[in-house]
Amino acid sequence: MTAKIHQPMTAGIDRRGLMLVMSSPSGAGKSTLARNLLRDQPELSLSVSITTRERRGSEIDGKDYHFISQRDFEIMRDNGGLLEWAEVHGNYYGTPLEPVQKAMSEGRDMLFDIDWQGALQMFDTARADIVSIFILPPSMSELESRLVRRAEDASEVIAKRLKNSRTEMEHWSEYDYIIINDDLDKSFLEVKSILNAERLRKDRRIGLHEFVADLLDQEI
Ligand code: 5GP
Repeated sequence: MTAKIHQPMTAGIDRRGLMLVMSSPSGAGKSTLARNLLRDQPELSLSVSITTRERRGSEIDGKDYHFISQRDFEIMRDNGGLLEWAEVHGNYYGTPLEPVQKAMSEGRDMLFDIDWQGALQMFDTARADIVSIFILPPSMSELESRLVRRAEDASEVIAKRLKNSRTEMEHWSEYDYIIINDDLDKSFLEVKSILNAERLRKDRRIGLHEFVADLLDQEI
C-alpha cells in the first residue's frame, strides 16, 4: 500500500523529521542497537508495530509491539491504517500510519525496526525522508550463536529464523548504509554518526535559503 506522508515546510521548525529504517536478520544485534539509540536520543521515537506473533516473556504490550489477533490485524490493514506490512517468519507485522503522520507533521524523527519487505514499501512512499541502515552479522556462526544465546524462542523458531536470514541479507544493497556488527559499541557510534550527519543534510533544513540570503545581505 502507498499511504501519503505530508511534512509541513513551516518556518519555525528548523528541520524536516526523518524516518530511520533499520533492518537485519534476527540475531544481528539490531534490537540492542535500536534500544541504545532510543535511550541516547530522547528526540527520536520508536514506531511501535502491530504484530500477530506471540509475546515473548521479556516484552511489554504497547511498548515493544502492540500484540493483536490476526482478525484485528486484517481489519486495520484493510482500512488503510498501516503504512506498510509484511508476513515475517509466519506472523504478520505492520506499521501503524497515524503515529508516523503525527511525528512527521511535528518535524520529529522516528525509528522503524522493520524487515526488508516493509522497508521497500516505505521507500515507495517517502524515499526522500528515509534513512535506511542494514545491519549484518560478522559471520553466520555468530548469528546462530546470538540467536541461541537469546534463548527466548523455541529451537524450531530459531531454525526458521536462521533459514530466513539469508533471504533478508540478500537485500542489503537496497539500503543507504551497511553496518557490520562485530562490536556493539563501534556499531552504535556508527549509527549515531549516520543519524547526526543525515540531520544536517541541506534538504532537511527549513529556512536555509532565507538564512543565507539574510547572511549575504548583512553589511561587514
Ligand atoms: P521479531 O519477531 O524478532 O520481533 O521481529 C521479526 C522481524 O519482523 C524483524 O526483522 C523485525 O524488524 C520485523 N518487523 C517488526 N515490526 C515490523 C513491521 O511493522 N513491519 C515489517 N515489515 N517488519 C517488522
